[in-house]
Formats: sequence, C-alpha cells, structure tokens
Amino acid sequence: MTISWSLDPPKKLQNVVGTGLDIYEQLYGALSQDPATPLSRITVTNAAFSLEPFAGCPARCAYCVVGSSARDIQLDGAVVRMPARPALLFKPVELVDALVTHPAFLPDRSVIGVGNGTTESFLPETERATWEIVDAFRRRGLKNPFWFVTKLGFADGIAERWACRFEMLHDSGIAVVLSVTYSAAPRWMEPHIGDRFRNIARLKRAGIRVSHHLRPILRGVNDSPDAARTAVRASANLADVICIGGLRPDTGLRLVWEQVYKLDPALLPHTNEKDLPEHFEPMLLDIVAAEGLHTPIVTRSTAAITRLLGIDDYALLGYQTPAPALLDIPITDQERIRGKSSIAVTDSIAAIALAIGLNLTFHAVGTRIYASRELLYQERQLLLHAIGHSGFFH
Ligand code: SF4
Repeated sequence: MTISWSLDPPKKLQNVVGTGLDIYEQLYGALSQDPATPLSRITVTNAAFSLEPFAGCPARCAYCVVGSSARDIQLDGAVVRMPARPALLFKPVELVDALVTHPAFLPDRSVIGVGNGTTESFLPETERATWEIVDAFRRRGLKNPFWFVTKLGFADGIAERWACRFEMLHDSGIAVVLSVTYSAAPRWMEPHIGDRFRNIARLKRAGIRVSHHLRPILRGVNDSPDAARTAVRASANLADVICIGGLRPDTGLRLVWEQVYKLDPALLPHTNEKDLPEHFEPMLLDIVAAEGLHTPIVTRSTAAITRLLGIDDYALLGYQTPAPALLDIPITDQERIRGKSSIAVTDSIAAIALAIGLNLTFHAVGTRIYASRELLYQERQLLLHAIGHSGFFH
C-alpha cells in the first residue's frame, strides 16, 4: 500500500509590527500549515512529537519561543501581546486521533509530549486536557513513552492526582520522563517563583524519571557559580540527570524579548546559534561534585530522554549533520548496516522513508547521505524519527 501525504512549506508573516522580523503563521515543526486541522497543533522535533492543545501561557518567560508563531501571539496595531490565558484550540481526542493516524507515528515507540512547545501543561486550567491526551493513548492500548516539560512544577492541589496517574501509567508499562526547568534565572527573565521541585519526590515514587533542565543559561545573567549552585541544590537527590543548554535568539524570541517585555537586545547572544557559555559545563561538574552528587550532565534533551528511557539513541545525535545532507554515517557503519540487511544503506533509508509515506531515493557522497530532493524541516524530522526508531544503527 502506498501511503501519501504532503506538507505545505511554512507560511510567514513578514515584518511584524515594522520590526523587520518575519515569523511563521503556525508553530515551527507543525505537521500541517492548515489551521483548521489538528495536525497544525502537533509538532515534531528531534526529541518528540508534541501535542499543543492550547495557545496562551501565564508563565511569561521573557525568552518564550512561542513568538515564532503568529497564531500564538496577539497583534494589536503596532503592539505585540502574549496571551496569558490558555485557550483550547483542539480537543485532546482530536489531537490524538490526528497523530495516531499519521503515517509517521510509530505505535509504542514515538516519544510523545504535551504542550512542550507552548503552554505549561500542569496548570489548574490545562492539566485535565494533558491527562485526557495521555489517557487517550493508554485507552488505545498504546505504550508510547511520554516526555513532559514543566516550568512551574506540580502544585499541591494536583500533585497527588498526578502521582496516582503516573502510577497507573507505570503499572501499564508506559514510561514517563519529566523535565523540570529551573536555572536560577532572575525574575525579569522568569517571573514565576516557587519551588519547582516541590512534590517531585512523590511523583518519582510513582515511577517517573526526572531530568533537571538547567536552562536556558544566558551569558552574564545566570551563568555564575552562585546561580548554578542554587539550581543544583534545588534538585539535589531528585534529578536523575541534569540537562544544560544555552539560548538561541530565534526571530520569535527576539520579537517577544524586545516588543513584549521591552528588554535590551544586547543581552541576547550575538550569534544565531544556541549559546552556552564555555565555562558553564566544567563549572557545573565541579559544583555537582562539591555538593557530593553524582548526577550526570548532558547538553541535549534527547540525550536526557534516551538515558532516562533506557533506549538507544533514537534521535541519531551521533549521525545527524547539517542540511542539505541528511546523515553522516562513517563508512565502517555503512558496511556494518549493509552486512545486516544485504542492501546499501541508501536503499535501507529509502525503504524506511517509503514506509512513512515519503517516496524518495537517496545517494551517498562519502560518509554523507543525501535525499533526492530538498526536504522541508518537518519531512526531515519525520524521516530522522523513523530511522532513529527503526533500530537501523543498532
Ligand atoms: S512556560 Fe513555556 S510557553 Fe509558557 S511562557 Fe514560559 S517558555 Fe513560554
């Protein structure tokens, strides 16, 4: 059977309020550009599919990347606003139905997130929808692992309810990784104060694994030893891994930073790449050791998830390479894979692509693998996701 689907190139809203900045109409990585379909609220990244039922978030982080999506901000004349109240765009079951029938969804294997790209998922007004999504997968008998990210943590009023839910998932063989984001950032950068690790010990007893997302680190702002020590102490004996990361000043982030929160653009990294100060990781290693902890430190979310789920490198971190190439596979690995399947690596990749509805051919130039045409970001991510979960390299 030939599966077919297509993606439109992302549409852009140009020169937003005269800033010279262009943003996308939909979320970056959305599986559809059509706002009428739930696929427009499902994104794919290296780490996971994320279902985004809501637009709007009260957390008011100054570096919120939601500014990249015109659908998620309010433009009022020359004023940019960030909606603080979450508005439900699609019912949880609509999102789940859309994802599980998408050819690139892998039952029991694709890692699933909820609200990882937009709205905090454990607010009083959002946590019910979060659970409805999780439960919809469970009721279908699916065992896909979940990866949640929280910036606000679990309030007392919902912690016990979620502990019971996590226990039920654990008993059903469904793994959960929770990333708690805390970097001791100043209040002008993250207004929310409060112990984000409160109640995490209870949730861990319910069987989840926890990554302390100690990010974003902004040079000259929260990269000091004192800030790092404060952050490390907050998750001591709770975090199974610490995941650090810098800030990438994407267009949407710049828009929010400058137009909504009126912050100095000079504070942002002077590069378009994610900027993690060079001293930060070695400094953090020393601090973790000095605190008598043995928490491993990683620099990619996918590395944290992979480690906590105990699965192979499904994001192919060791093989990814910048476009236009798709993968960089050492010749020895190409020969090993060919030995297992009896066909060339490029043919194996073509078969995986076809299985998710991408009818492409591939060719190798030395160690680099190229597709027969340029891939949209989403196509590339879906293909890497399919290859990564196929066990192809292992
Ligand atoms: S919690 Fe996430 S979506 Fe909400 S404001 Fe902060 S960065 Fe944006």
